[in-house]
Amino acid sequence: MPSMTTSKVSRWDRHGREHVVHVRKSGTRRQLTCDTCGWRKGAQFLPWLKAEEHLAEAHQATIDPTA
Ligand SMILES: [Zn+2]
Repeated sequence: MPSMTTSKVSRWDRHGREHVVHVRKSGTRRQLTCDTCGWRKGAQFLPWLKAEEHLAEAHQATIDPTA
């Protein structure tokens, strides 16, 4: 289970590159920041799901290294 204060979602693309979206708690919301492209988004619900969506859509990174 991810930490409730700060966490990250990392996925690998098919070239073996790691892409990381950091999730930071900000009041009742979560702030998402992508290391690869600088993408930022606020999310109130399911921040990890939104991070996964970004990684898949923007970087074709869908491989979970922890799976
Ligand atoms: Zn990105």
